[in-house]
Amino acid sequence: MNNNIYKTVYFFAPHGEETREVHDELSDIFSRHGIEEVAASDDADIIASIGGDGEFLQSVRKNNFRDDCVYLGIAVDDANYFYVDFHYRDIKTLEEAIDQDNLDVRNYPLLEVSINDNKPSYCLNEFTLRSSIVKTIKMDVYINDFLFEQFNGDGILVATPTGSTGYNKSLGGSVIDPLIHAMQVTELASVNNNTHRTLGTSFLLNKERPLTLLIDKNLDYYPIMSLDNEAISVRNTEKVEVSISDKLIKTLKLKDNTFWHKAQRNFL
Ligand code: NAP
Repeated sequence: MNNNIYKTVYFFAPHGEETREVHDELSDIFSRHGIEEVAASDDADIIASIGGDGEFLQSVRKNNFRDDCVYLGIAVDDANYFYVDFHYRDIKTLEEAIDQDNLDVRNYPLLEVSINDNKPSYCLNEFTLRSSIVKTIKMDVYINDFLFEQFNGDGILVATPTGSTGYNKSLGGSVIDPLIHAMQVTELASVNNNTHRTLGTSFLLNKERPLTLLIDKNLDYYPIMSLDNEAISVRNTEKVEVSISDKLIKTLKLKDNTFWHKAQRNFL
């Protein structure tokens, strides 16, 4: 970490008193390296989440996916994580990495999701759309302006590469290297028979191929949508456009801790 670049840090610590000790110790460590804690996240060069991947996702979301700072995840329990590179117990590793300038900045692609032509929202893991009633949802699936398929089933998930190891993987989607800036479309229980037909496998789209979902207006679906770990409900959702954003999220990682090291630790 280059102290000439990073001067300020904001701690995203949603568990308050529970992690107060960790928070204070981290604040001292950063201060010893000329990086001062600030009370407003807008003033921070580094936004450090204390917790797991869920807290990391929230730290990015609550800061409106700011792309002019770097995010850093610090774990306090014993689980393996994808976004979180450092463990509080092993805080010396972070301190040594700061001293030896042994940190990399990695860029993660984001999804841009626009509902009914409204202002776009962003996702770091995935976007999902599903029926909220005990009925299937029908929608036309367009790639660019091309009607690719007509979906009938529980719903559709669109994942970023870093989100590919989350919900997407549980649905049988592939794990995608975050160096590949693509989005993965995965079905949630599609009906496939002589009347309804969809591809039936996940597929990847690149930046030049936005996805548009046109929901059947004749049926009252009240779809439920999720942006990472937040649920949203938009009345009369008719059209959803999903694409890879121009924005990238920057995170700090150890040089020898790639996405695939984490995949191995988590899954093998
Ligand atoms: P949660 O419901 O408390 O946790 C879901 C689990 O997914 C946690 O173990 C979480 O890890 C893990 N996770 C989150 N992002 C991941 C990623 N990119 N790769 C691998 N694992 C990941 O919710 P949360 O912690 O706020 O995380 C929200 C995410 O949960 C969603 O974005 C979605 O990807 C995932 N999810 C998965 C399923 C499923 O697999 N059936 C269903 C709903 C949501 P941590 O323990 O590190 O927080």
